[in-house]
This record gives sequence, C-alpha cells and structure tokens, in this order.
Amino acid sequence: MVLRSLQQYLELMKLSGINEIFSLKNDIQTDNSRTIEELKEKYKNCRKCPLFKERTNLVYGEGSSSPILMLIGEGPGGEEDKTGKPFVGRAGQLLTKMLKAINIERDEVYITNIVKCRPPQNRNPLPSESEICIKYLYEQIELLNPRLILLLGKVASVNLLKKNLKIDEFRKEVFFFNNAKTFVTYHPSALLRNENLKKYAWDDLKKLRIEYDKILAEEH
Ligand code: SF4
Repeated sequence: MVLRSLQQYLELMKLSGINEIFSLKNDIQTDNSRTIEELKEKYKNCRKCPLFKERTNLVYGEGSSSPILMLIGEGPGGEEDKTGKPFVGRAGQLLTKMLKAINIERDEVYITNIVKCRPPQNRNPLPSESEICIKYLYEQIELLNPRLILLLGKVASVNLLKKNLKIDEFRKEVFFFNNAKTFVTYHPSALLRNENLKKYAWDDLKKLRIEYDKILAEEH
C-alpha cells in the first residue's frame, strides 16, 4: 500500500517535470533545538578542513529564517571573506538585482554556499573540502526547509546534486532536493564575464518566479 502510494508520488513528480528526487534523511542529524543563528555562532571557528587557514571570516549564510527560496553558490570570494556575508561583492550585487527583477527582496530568501570559507585565489573548492563542509549546508536545508532552491553555477550543482552535467544540461532539468523544487542557473560571476548569458539567466528567473507564485498561492 505504502509502496503503491510512493510509486504514484514519483509518477506525479515526473509528470510535473521533476526528474530526480534527493532526500537528506540519511545524510544528516540536524540539531533542531537550535535556530539558524545559533548554528552560525556554533560553527564560526570551524577548522574541519584546510580552508580555515586563510580565511578572515567564515561565511555561514544569511537571510530569512523561514525562506521560501534558498540560493546556493560555490564559496565566498574576497569581499565575502572580509565581511563574513555571502554574495556582497560585484557578483553579489548583481544577484541582488536579479532577485529584484523578479520582485524578490534579498531579505526574503536565504543565501549560502557549498563551502563556508574562501578558497585561496577564488579557486573551486576541492572535492575533499566540499565533502566535509557540505554537511553544514545539509543542516541549513533541513532546518530552514525551503520550498525552492536555486543553485548558482556548475560547482554548486555538481556538489549538491552529485551529478556531473554541464551547466546547460542542469538548467534544462528540475530536481527535488529534500522538500525543495530545485533549479539551476548561471553563477552571477559568469554573467559578469559574459553578458550574452544574461538572457538565459532571465529565462531561468522567470521560471523560478512562476514557482514562487504557485507556492505563495498555496500558502494563502
Ligand atoms: S570550509 Fe567548511 S569545513 Fe572547511 S573550515 Fe570552513 S566551515 Fe569548516
């Protein structure tokens, strides 16, 4: 009986365009007795991987404590390392504008990264570093329970979805991570490097806004 309803659920998901479903239940033990701000405080001196050595500040994440939407990038850059806040440099300013373009304020969402400390020279995080740090992200997703996730760029997508696709292959698909319908778009740094990508990012954002509206309609 249960299996039958699970199959029906999976078929329903496929019909709504969702290709793969990921669950966190076996990956983490969330400390539900703490708030997200208390967890941020708890981990602020983390030294579990070598990235702690060159950081100024650990960039845990910031935003709403009950977001519909969570945005996930790959790791902090220079400005983020200095301030301890995610996406505050040029790419972050563009991200804030992208959200505004679909009428979402930055403080309505929660923004974080796969790794919480800046990789030297802004290189991609190593698999060994991501594998350790991603546990904090799992915990954030479990605790904040967003209904939508937007992954920014290939590095974030590969690490969360554990699939080695090209960015445009990711963008074409819809995933389901924990309780969140999950989309992929370009990292804002890629849009700064290549203006031609902005029209595709705009298509992704419009798709996201439609989903956001559906959730708002369900909740009211
Ligand atoms: S990157 Fe993550 S695991 Fe590594 S030291 Fe920073 S917080 Fe800890």
